[in-house]
Amino acid sequence: MPKNETLDTKRHSLAHIMAASILEMFPEAKFGVGPVIEDGFFYDVHLNRALTPDDLQDIEKRMREKVKQNLRFERLEMPLNSAIHLFGDMSQNFKVELLHDLKSRGTTAVADLGDANLVGGNVNEVSVYKTGDFTDLCRGPHVNETREIDPDSFRLTRVSGAYWRGNQEREQMQRVYGVAFDTKQQLEEYFVRLEEAKKRDHRRLGRELGLFMFHPWAPGAAFWLPKGTTLYNTLGNYMREVLFAAGYVEVKTPLIFNKALWETSGHWSHYRQNMFQIASEHEQMAVKAMNCPGHYLLFASEVRSYRDLPIRFHEQTPLHRNEASGVLSGLTRVRQFSQDDAHCFVMPDQIGQEVERLLGILRRVYDDFGLPFELKLGTRPPEFLGEIETWNEAEAQLKETLDRAGVPYELNEGDGAFYGPKIDIFVTDAIGRKWQCATIQLDYMMPERFDLKYIGADNAEHRVVVIHRAIFGSFERFLAILIEHYAGAFPIWLAPVQAMLIPIADRHAVYCSQVKDRLTAAGLRAEIDMSVERMNAKIRNAQMQKIPYMLVVGDREQEQGAVAVRLRSGEDLKTKSVEEFIAIAKDAITTKK
Ligand SMILES: [Zn+2]
Ligand SMILES: [Zn+2]
Repeated sequence: MPKNETLDTKRHSLAHIMAASILEMFPEAKFGVGPVIEDGFFYDVHLNRALTPDDLQDIEKRMREKVKQNLRFERLEMPLNSAIHLFGDMSQNFKVELLHDLKSRGTTAVADLGDANLVGGNVNEVSVYKTGDFTDLCRGPHVNETREIDPDSFRLTRVSGAYWRGNQEREQMQRVYGVAFDTKQQLEEYFVRLEEAKKRDHRRLGRELGLFMFHPWAPGAAFWLPKGTTLYNTLGNYMREVLFAAGYVEVKTPLIFNKALWETSGHWSHYRQNMFQIASEHEQMAVKAMNCPGHYLLFASEVRSYRDLPIRFHEQTPLHRNEASGVLSGLTRVRQFSQDDAHCFVMPDQIGQEVERLLGILRRVYDDFGLPFELKLGTRPPEFLGEIETWNEAEAQLKETLDRAGVPYELNEGDGAFYGPKIDIFVTDAIGRKWQCATIQLDYMMPERFDLKYIGADNAEHRVVVIHRAIFGSFERFLAILIEHYAGAFPIWLAPVQAMLIPIADRHAVYCSQVKDRLTAAGLRAEIDMSVERMNAKIRNAQMQKIPYMLVVGDREQEQGAVAVRLRSGEDLKTKSVEEFIAIAKDAITTKK
């Protein structure tokens, strides 16, 4: 995502002001690191007691006062040794430790704390920032004066535990989090968005709508309940339709391979710990974590002519990755998943037109889900495989294709993989969150490793180029995104149950089941609510289940061979003949409304 430098500067300046406020309340406070994070900032602080919610309010109040005083951020450069003395005098042991590290190792970098942020490139000199009475070791930048910050644009949100430098043997710090935006209104919108995201949480909706479940005996692997399976298969079949029309063929390759395959692909040395390994007789095997190597074996199983290319293998079989149990989360971090995966085998001069075809597919698919998207092109990194001319040619084709397709894209120079340039695609959901789903990745390495070639018009052998590509990414993760995007109210073409028949009394049950048979025969997914509840309760239940159409049947409807149609929004479409309803529903399915 593009970085908002100014906003980040404000956020980081607020981290200093927070530290200054904490120091006022707790003169013994020792500070660790205080970087900018998504939506805000944090600071790690070591104190003699745990901070309470009241403390947070107090800190926040002091921060607000300081911001209103219009304090200046003064930058001072000083020799490293002077800084060690300065922070030693203030008993800021953690800062002194960082400075000593800088002196002996030339860096303060540890794990994931982003504390490289603390110092600049020059090891003999460091910069400190003074704000009022508070002095901190910091590279900057900062706002010049606190009046650049709206005093109502930030809030402290929570405190969590963190070890100093991420090391369990070291001191336990308290990590104080704040969120900050340019304006008060943006801050309020952030909390609304957070609330909305909570309501849409796919883990909650998945349970309420009866889509999927998990069991501790299969960590990270979803059980798809009947409705969830319908949804999953609907997506799978939709993607098949789209891809078949674009010249893809579907294949199924084995789930378990001998380690020889993984040695050839290089995964055995780099990725083995992420795969489930299995012993069989005297063979060492691993469950596939990706489809690519299987597709290479398929491609190499026949002599391929330039006339056959491009060849496009699509596969939806399950994949497994041995993710640590601690990181598993709902459908977004799982151990078992399937992808709308495909590999296109092309000649080098076909890259442009193949990517153009892909962009067409991408646009159609994301339009069908109402997901706007943006692209990023990652080009040759400093370390790369293959000839520089090959790269230049591929990148030129990609740029030309993107320009011709008229899709705006961001150029990320040097962000490609070492084995080929790539395009990352990000979608924006209904509440403004961005997700990366699709990727288009060129690969010059695997064709070498698996000796993938075709016979050219010149009768000689040539290397193919492989394009790895997925549009949904994993079905599991894409379903999580869709559940939250639609808040569970799927458009009719996706809805697991499209119509709920609601008999007013038992005497309407036979007619309802006749109607259901007609709907099913017409290809619609319908159910009958045969519970003993009253009509209004049945309507409410169907609304809670977010079923697009409720078809109420009483004496009048039964006599007329009709149904009274209501939408989940509450809108009343009045009485329609069964034929009329089928036409309405089928039209909505075709147009994906
Ligand atoms: Zn700073
Ligand atoms: Zn692949």
